[in-house]
Amino acid sequence: MTQDRKPRTRAVHGGGRRSQYGEVSEAIFLTQGFVYDSAEHAEARFIEAADDEFIYARYGNPTVAMFEDRMAAIEGTDDGFAAASGMAAVNGAIMSHLKAGDHVVAARALFGSCLYILENVLPNFGVEVTLIDGTDLSAWEAAVTERTRLVFFESMSNPTLELVDIKSVSEIAHRHGALVVVDNVFSTPVYSKAVSQGADIIVYSATKHIDGQGRALGGIILGSREVIRGPVEAYMKHTGGAMSPFTAWVMLKGLETMDLRVRAQTATAHALAERLSTHPKLSRVIYPGHASHPQHALANAQMGAGGTMLSFDIKDGKDAAFRFLNALRIALISNNLGDAKSIATPPAFTTHQRLPHDQKETLGITPGLIRFSCGLEDVRDLEADILHALEQA
Ligand SMILES: *Cc1c(COP(=O)(O)O)cnc(C)c1O
Repeated sequence: MTQDRKPRTRAVHGGGRRSQYGEVSEAIFLTQGFVYDSAEHAEARFIEAADDEFIYARYGNPTVAMFEDRMAAIEGTDDGFAAASGMAAVNGAIMSHLKAGDHVVAARALFGSCLYILENVLPNFGVEVTLIDGTDLSAWEAAVTERTRLVFFESMSNPTLELVDIKSVSEIAHRHGALVVVDNVFSTPVYSKAVSQGADIIVYSATKHIDGQGRALGGIILGSREVIRGPVEAYMKHTGGAMSPFTAWVMLKGLETMDLRVRAQTATAHALAERLSTHPKLSRVIYPGHASHPQHALANAQMGAGGTMLSFDIKDGKDAAFRFLNALRIALISNNLGDAKSIATPPAFTTHQRLPHDQKETLGITPGLIRFSCGLEDVRDLEADILHALEQA
């Protein structure tokens, strides 16, 4: 019966573990360890812990297990391993499957820390990494070979909102026996169909839409039981990237409202994209849910929506972009996303500052680019805020 439940119902009830007190809201088990009835019981649990038996919170904890099971139920995977941050999840998903001599292919348009792992960490351990234009299927065809152990990409890239075709890239990767690891943050669990599209491992930064209220860092790795309870669990539990039980509780509460929040934020992004698309001070408006986006059809097929993020380019570059940011009265200048509060970021000078000039150019990260994470405010107030600030630009 629970199999037939829709994701929004699973986001409220999935993974529940009610104690003998019958609490309505999920309990927080703020404990590192667990007591055994006898020495024999301790021995047996270390030989093989059953599904709902715990040993040490770095390995697992009841509140964390609720979050893992709820996320797996929403995403449609067998299992999940929760991590201390999105980056702990990305690192664990990738590192747990690689050894020296392996080859990895990844899309070049990546979150800065993901790029650091691929460009700086993996080569230090003898892993060869090929970075390509993720939107170009012929580039994937050319780069993935029999030597390729895994491919990695963000299904929607930050900050220029380019999509990578999960289904087509998975077909290419699987033909060569490579594992498909997808960072699905910008797509959100609400719009993800990554499992049916061929992804083997799906990673989220829970810091974003899952919490959605800017309170805590977290992440999760989702996949088959074989992968999660095999290499992923082994790597994560021994290297210490565990999520804290308190964070898991915050995330569980976030999941209960995620569907409502993300759909409302998406409606706002859609309305703002439409309103801004002809604005004279903007050279381009990027929103996958808008007909002007070059991958609009792919966004519809892959996500069924355009998501909560919007980017736009202010014509006169840095000075104009900074005047715009400084004139905002509601949206905050910050760098989180998926939050209830709208957030505006100038990626060229913050999140992507480190990139050399020519790489910024290749990726379309221009001085006037603003990444706008649509929050839960009334869209009429946000529109007025943006239009007023554009006047100052
Ligand atoms: C934020 C983010 C991460 C990292 O998540 P943290 O929780 O900040 O560690 C990874 N990938 C993408 C696409 C992100 O937006």
